[in-house]
Amino acid sequence: MSLPTAEEHVHAVLATAARRSVGEKEFMQAVHEVLETLTPVLQEHPEYIEAGILDRLVEPERQILFRVPWVDDTGRVRVNRGFRVQFNSALGPFKGGLRFHPSVNLSVVKFLGFEQIFKNALTGQRIGGGKGGSDFDPAGRSDGEVMRFCQSFMTELVHHIGENMDVPAGDIGVGAREIGYMFGQHRRITQRYEAGTLTGKGVGWGGAEVRTEATGFGAVFFAEEMLRKAGQGIAGLKAAVSGSGNVAIHVIQKVEQLGGRAITASDSSGYIVDEDGIDVELLKQVKVVERARISAYAERRPSARFVKDGKVWDVPVDLAFPCATENEIGLADAQALIRGGVRAVTEGANMPTTPEAVALFQEASVLFAPGKAANAGGVATSALEMRQNAARSRWDFDTSENRLHAIMTDVHDSTYEASERYGRPGDYVLGANAAAFVTVSQAMLEQGVI
Ligand code: GLU
Repeated sequence: MSLPTAEEHVHAVLATAARRSVGEKEFMQAVHEVLETLTPVLQEHPEYIEAGILDRLVEPERQILFRVPWVDDTGRVRVNRGFRVQFNSALGPFKGGLRFHPSVNLSVVKFLGFEQIFKNALTGQRIGGGKGGSDFDPAGRSDGEVMRFCQSFMTELVHHIGENMDVPAGDIGVGAREIGYMFGQHRRITQRYEAGTLTGKGVGWGGAEVRTEATGFGAVFFAEEMLRKAGQGIAGLKAAVSGSGNVAIHVIQKVEQLGGRAITASDSSGYIVDEDGIDVELLKQVKVVERARISAYAERRPSARFVKDGKVWDVPVDLAFPCATENEIGLADAQALIRGGVRAVTEGANMPTTPEAVALFQEASVLFAPGKAANAGGVATSALEMRQNAARSRWDFDTSENRLHAIMTDVHDSTYEASERYGRPGDYVLGANAAAFVTVSQAMLEQGVI
């Protein structure tokens, strides 16, 4: 029987995925984004078509959906939905964060889990891809409510995770506090101290140094490599950053350490512009310690102003780091950035740029780093945390940051090399997808039809 051509095959896999994923907009966007770049790889590897690699890749190995009941501070019973999508474990245990946000649904978890397979492959750390979360909104909830929610969530999740099975971590709405409560409940139920079951733990009890900073620092290291390749550097450049969570804060910090100036940050209420450069300690105080609105930053800093409407992309800059959430840079935002003279866009968040906006950046020869490569430093450092837990060892901050830096340089180089190999040097979207796909496909091929 003759094989379909690469184009026919991609088309057929997309059609099946669409039929099985009715209403799953974000998931289908992520699948299209990857599959549409893979034709040249499949032409070179017809054995992947024969082995049904793509057909298997778009179908999660396992999907767990569960009820999460908890009691709020007034004594009322609340119910949320919990998710864990174990997407692909060809390279290692499922690995990926948990997101707690009202927008979380199966489509969002599947898009994140699908991206995670490729991202994790790029890190070279032998981890599979998965993602989970809940539509629980931690905003405005007391510590007690967050703890009771996390305990209820873990009471089900405990059956599905483990250091050689599936290792969750944080994402939007899940930081050290939530990981702590979940780990505590895991320990209580299992009566075991299995440190490698969750990453992003407190550094005093098994967490890795630099894990908190890693996604943001890593994105800036990637941007630095990408700019270097194009004969430039970060020093002296102005950057717009969106978001004000863990990723945004540490992008700002690293841009400033490397001699650039990050001048914006945002949250759901608006954004701030600080032409003197964001004071990262003040931003941490407002967003992490006080969990306050971002306008509080501008109230305390004379050089800053708060803008209620619009987006940070209206501010003319050299570098853009979208670090908030998916699809936050649309066509109009990309046009505004290009008009403002942007040279490089580096995705700190997952899929923050719409496909139309990516195409526009590429046409305008703006350097573009997709999240699955640029923000891989977080999960890579989670893998380093797993490694330290397994060895019962602990590396210091500088050692950990150097390891992260080396990994991001490797992610950059392998991505760039793949872009060259498949005929579009500097197309990091193609490069990231192709390099990761070959790594995962080869493992799946060698492990048989499972
Ligand atoms: N949620 C992060 C990501 O998007 C990190 C996941 C992890 O550390 O497992 O990659």
